[in-house]
Amino acid sequence: MNDYDSNRIYDLVKKINYIKTDKIEGADCYILNTCHIREKATDKVYHDIGRIKKNFKNRKKPIVIVAGCVAQAEGEILIDRENYIDAVIGPQSYQKINETILKIEQKFTKLNFTTFDVIEKFDNFNLVKNSNSNISSFVTIQEGCDKFCKFCVVPYTRGAEFSRSLQEIKEECKNLIDNGVKEISLLGQNVNAYNHTGKKLSDLINEISKIKGLERIRYTTSHPVDFTSDLIDAHATCKKLMPLIHLPVQSGSNKILKDMNRNHTIEDYLLIIEKLKKVDPAIEFSSDFIIGYPGETEEDFSKSLDLLKKIKYINTFSFIFSPRPGTPAAKMKKIENNVAKKRLAEFQKTAEEIKLDYRKNLFNNYSSVLFENRIAEKNEFFGRDEYFNSIIVKSNNELRGITKKVKIINGNQNTLFGEISPKMIKKDFAA
Ligand code: SF4
Repeated sequence: MNDYDSNRIYDLVKKINYIKTDKIEGADCYILNTCHIREKATDKVYHDIGRIKKNFKNRKKPIVIVAGCVAQAEGEILIDRENYIDAVIGPQSYQKINETILKIEQKFTKLNFTTFDVIEKFDNFNLVKNSNSNISSFVTIQEGCDKFCKFCVVPYTRGAEFSRSLQEIKEECKNLIDNGVKEISLLGQNVNAYNHTGKKLSDLINEISKIKGLERIRYTTSHPVDFTSDLIDAHATCKKLMPLIHLPVQSGSNKILKDMNRNHTIEDYLLIIEKLKKVDPAIEFSSDFIIGYPGETEEDFSKSLDLLKKIKYINTFSFIFSPRPGTPAAKMKKIENNVAKKRLAEFQKTAEEIKLDYRKNLFNNYSSVLFENRIAEKNEFFGRDEYFNSIIVKSNNELRGITKKVKIINGNQNTLFGEISPKMIKKDFAA
């Protein structure tokens, strides 16, 4: 979501003649768009500002703005502690970015925009197009969260659940597609909680799938509680919907899920997976796990491990529990760090083995790859298959924006390498 927001901020500041620069040491304005999910996010802000300060030691100070969830959560503290910061802007106030920059240019100091003006924000974002010429683009459809998992800061930093209107989203998608986008990833902190005047995520998917030129639709991140049967059915009927579902579970233990306030059980979770596999057996899953949540016993941990082995997630994101200031879990007694570390290492080792097995099975088989970029100064192209795997192929023909069947010949943990046979290119181009 920060990636989406950063691009939108970039689109907005262009209107007041600020352009992106690769010369990181000589910018006139720095906007640090921050994420507060991980521990040490605030330290990173101070560290980055320290680096900027060093670069500008004997020069005119640049404009420094801290945006995002760290700004939202710790705005006043940041301004009080670091004099170099000119303004803080929370995630729901990005529409004020130009006004902020112009005020700082006019020597207004210490601006704090951390209110939740979410409607106003999207009214401004709505005007933007695909100025980065991306083949794949994010579209935020929903923000905020009412779930209040005990470990999470999102309900405090992004506010209550808010869904944009279906019409507005459709228009943004159309704009993007008219400007070259072929794949859209619908984004939301609770994307499947999307609900605008009774229109649900499945309705939205069905609507945008009708847009000519759009080839692929993804959505993230889903909550098991909101995985309703209409969304499951959409996977049976919408051919543009990709068969990888990111479905965070956080723990394999019902006791821990209850302590986290996740509001579902492992049985509920498994039932969703079963139903999805029934409508499309090719669907695969990825997930998030928190290891070493307060109160996690060896037995609880082994249930997470069992779930990992049972579902055989093709990708997992696992972290040791890190207390976020202001959340209920931050007050809970942490388990010993060395125990949590040991469990994480075991979990990640198993996850990697599963991933490796999955990837080996792809070798010598064909994947459908949408190519996004040419690798700089090489006749190589980067694309993604339907399961979001990164794939690189060599080609003398332009492949950007084209979907090809690719034979996977090799690969490592992060990237797969494939080839398109000359015969196939000829045929595909003729078509
Ligand atoms: S559902 Fe997701 S965003 Fe909402 S509180 Fe839980 S972890 Fe955070």
